[in-house]
Amino acid sequence: MFSKDIQTQVDKLLSHYPIRQNALIPILHLAQNENEGWLTEAWMQHVADICEVPLTHVEGVVTFYTMFRLKPPGKYHLQVCTCVPCCLVGGTELLEHTEKKLGIHAGYTTDDGIFSIEEMECIGACSFAPAVIVNEDYHEQVTPESMDKMIDELRKKKMAEETLVLFKNIRNPNYDKSLSAYKKSGGFKSLKKVFGMKPDEVVQEVKESGIRGRGGAGFPTGLKWSFMAKGTGKPSYLVANADESEPGTCKDRELMLKDPHMFLEGLMIGCYAIGCHHGYVYVRGEYFPSIKSLNEAVDELYADGLLGLDPMGSGFNLDITIHTGAGAYICGEESALLDSLEGKRGHPRVKPPFPAVSGFNGCPTSVNNVETLACMPFILGDNGVEDFKNFGPQNNSGTHLVSLSGHVNRPGVYELRMDVNMKDIIYEFGGGIRNGKKLKGVIPGGSSSPVMTADEVDVVYNFDDLAKKGTMMGSSAMMVFDEDTDVVKLLHRITRFYAHESCGQCTPCREGTHWSRQIIRDFLSGNGSEEKLQRLNRVGGNMMGTTLCALGDAAAMPIQSFVKKFPEEFRKYYATV
Ligand code: SF4
Repeated sequence: MFSKDIQTQVDKLLSHYPIRQNALIPILHLAQNENEGWLTEAWMQHVADICEVPLTHVEGVVTFYTMFRLKPPGKYHLQVCTCVPCCLVGGTELLEHTEKKLGIHAGYTTDDGIFSIEEMECIGACSFAPAVIVNEDYHEQVTPESMDKMIDELRKKKMAEETLVLFKNIRNPNYDKSLSAYKKSGGFKSLKKVFGMKPDEVVQEVKESGIRGRGGAGFPTGLKWSFMAKGTGKPSYLVANADESEPGTCKDRELMLKDPHMFLEGLMIGCYAIGCHHGYVYVRGEYFPSIKSLNEAVDELYADGLLGLDPMGSGFNLDITIHTGAGAYICGEESALLDSLEGKRGHPRVKPPFPAVSGFNGCPTSVNNVETLACMPFILGDNGVEDFKNFGPQNNSGTHLVSLSGHVNRPGVYELRMDVNMKDIIYEFGGGIRNGKKLKGVIPGGSSSPVMTADEVDVVYNFDDLAKKGTMMGSSAMMVFDEDTDVVKLLHRITRFYAHESCGQCTPCREGTHWSRQIIRDFLSGNGSEEKLQRLNRVGGNMMGTTLCALGDAAAMPIQSFVKKFPEEFRKYYATV
């Protein structure tokens, strides 16, 4: 379980003591450091094996000492001393102040995982009281003011690693998502600037930023907008795709719920760029809190005059309608979404014509993902295009929201540059694999993306680097699974999803999704065979590229990749004679 370097230290330690048990405490320190600051049962068992003592002995030692922790601390663990010398000069008040500042009591971690607080007995800095240890650093003669400053700086440091564009408000604990708070943060300055530009100039800046759609396909947004049919005599529409339903993806929900105005400003910029006077937001029906948040935000915009007739004296009239879906994954596909928006069953359409020519009610329409639109206020802001381009390698510009889920210690939605290594996302931001387990694999871009094994994750997480590895970043939804995961069961659950969500128009998809699910069920009931494994692979292959929309491919890619990368796991389910 120890990395190579730490294992060398462990071996060295063991060589310094006559019996292995003597090295128990130093090795526990190494284990705790190796596991993001806390000890799991698996780690304690590992140390028990190394030191040749029973697990109960290790547990007894761990629970005796205050420095060993049995739950994950925050990235910054604040140990505030309130013992006699500190207490005499304000240590207790400092602790209360810190608790109030972070909104948590001692013993707890903030929701964003950045800070945890621990009330300490004497930490040996009595002449320099009140004293605080932050991770391994002593801070002396700390005042409430210097504590605030330190917390703000640490938060900023963490945000600089993680947050640049989209979560700048969300990560601010004092942000209340109201229109006035958004304006105070610089909101609507970009829209004002845009109203002074020609629509084509806006499209050109978006093209130059290099932004690619964040919904999954990664198509360049500026190019998409430039395809909008002109001079048709019909109205144009911009529809925000907020049907976020690819399993593993929950980033747009964060934006709509916690900073709706940033997204709505982006939508308004998009409407102006393509000459649309009525924008729609198609939100998946289950997102009740996001729908409420959006409706409240839209009401605020109308009340403020930013929506309706002539906002900011621009002469450009604009309405926005929040439209709710009713539970169908396929409505995330843009043409199915448009059918659904028209009040019909959500069936993908035959293309061409593409929505840019004939979309909503037969009019030119652009469908854009929520996160894509939420980037627009930044891109159209001061120096936005250049800064955006610098956040990632060529052709992969900007930051993106990564939905990290599964067996990691710190699941969550992280805003990251496009040049961050997947390994760092799992081990640094995600805090590593929970319970000290080993990584088995990752589904890197929503459930439809080809699976990766543990030894493939040393790769930069962006569109092109993942494509070179034969997989895709999709909607930036990473699902991490550990060594104990039964991948046949996992694939069964994925296949069941696609079988449920197929709209049934195409035979390969309608039949293939159900057939593959049935074959995997056979495996799970102990009736697998080499012949069935090959058949499963063929059924997947027959769906690839043979269907009206991408759901056929989405169902096929996990099947074929799981079979290819984890064949031994299927063999465990072969029928025995
Ligand atoms: Fe419907 Fe599947 Fe065909 Fe897409 S691929 S149109 S979901 S049957």
